[in-house]
Amino acid sequence: MKTVSVFGATGSIGQNTLDLIKRDPQAYDVVALTGGSNVTQLAADAIALNADVAVIDDPDCYAELQNLLSGTNVEAASGSAAIVEAAKRPCDWTMSAIVGAAGLAPGWAALEQGKTLALANKESLVTAGPILMDHANQHGATVLPVDSEHSAVFQALIGEDIAAVERIIITASGGAFRDWPLEDLPNASLAEASNHPNWDMGQRITIDSASMFNKAMELIETKEFFGVRPDQIETIIHPESLIHALVGFADGALMAHVGPHDMRHAIGFALNWPVRKDLPVQRLDLAAIGSLNFKAPEAARYPALQIARDVMDEGGLMGAAFTAAKEQALDSFIAGDIGFMDMAPVVAKTLDTMTSRDGLKNVKMTLDTVNEIDQLARVRAIEITKTLR
Ligand code: NDP
Ligand code: MG
Repeated sequence: MKTVSVFGATGSIGQNTLDLIKRDPQAYDVVALTGGSNVTQLAADAIALNADVAVIDDPDCYAELQNLLSGTNVEAASGSAAIVEAAKRPCDWTMSAIVGAAGLAPGWAALEQGKTLALANKESLVTAGPILMDHANQHGATVLPVDSEHSAVFQALIGEDIAAVERIIITASGGAFRDWPLEDLPNASLAEASNHPNWDMGQRITIDSASMFNKAMELIETKEFFGVRPDQIETIIHPESLIHALVGFADGALMAHVGPHDMRHAIGFALNWPVRKDLPVQRLDLAAIGSLNFKAPEAARYPALQIARDVMDEGGLMGAAFTAAKEQALDSFIAGDIGFMDMAPVVAKTLDTMTSRDGLKNVKMTLDTVNEIDQLARVRAIEITKTLR
């Protein structure tokens, strides 16, 4: 039996992970499940899977969690420190699927066990990629990508020499506004931005797909995970989202990973790795699909892509500042304080002030400095947001 923990169990990736675990309950022994505030879902899954512990981030939900778990064998806990504690419980396979920078600390703690971390939380790599991968190596832990593009690249690289890789192309759906007239984008509403053309995901990543901040993070994620140069990483709009990524080799060959838009594929690959097992995903009928399309992303529609290039060139703690500024700008858009096309300028200006005022280049990357820069960037982004009102 494989012991497993799922961080962010109540979210979109978390629920897809639990779906796979529930299909084969004899194969898994569930250690910890965590949620943010969805206490009903967390308790129901913890009971159904007989987890050792269920942790809810929001302390206001603790009493309810205790109540829902009373009379069961599942322990209840709450708060971000308890989530990190849960990540230290011995476990063979841990899913990191908390959204945002909050996912870094539990993933970091889980790596110390020297086992396997399935990493959906791309923010961990964007904010702290170099020290996170070092930390994994030091503890002999394995990090497996769960983001569909990175899982695709990982799979295309099996048996290959990374030195023979010329380029990596990650595809993008283009998001909710790929066909909108450019002049309409500033007026895009929250509801319109929260509606993904192909994938069913959490609200934040869906809006990040419309703005391509998601793809921007994924460019950085590619650099950090696979250790390739920024100029080797490309993105292309592929409206069907069936090819997830392509790896180009020194001989000109392109290896493409093709599959349905169902995250259970990438999650299941990481869950079963290094073997492949049957997964409950659709088998593609290529004749019915007929054609696959590609288009270069327009810079004016997707300013986040250039910001990601600047972040990769700058390196170091710029990724932490970028993630935090992006999260703050997204919060402001969700709250209705700024428009859809204001998010990129807020992030770009935040990064400019961080470079000029805070001299990020001279600060060594540690978990503490990553957190400090994260907090500072959020404050700066709020200041900049106020100037827009
Ligand atoms: P969701 O918003 O659906 O779920 C996020 C999860 O994190 C929920 O369990 C939520 O709890 C929990 N959570 C939120 N804030 C906190 C916090 N401060 N502390 C602890 N837990 C918290 O997100 P997704 O599942 O869509 O995404 C999860 C991660 O996976 C993200 O990093 C995303 O970029 C990445 N990813 C997602 C994909 C997808 O298809 N959804 C594809 C590729 C990557 P609750 O709901 O109980 O409040
Ligand atoms: Mg992705």
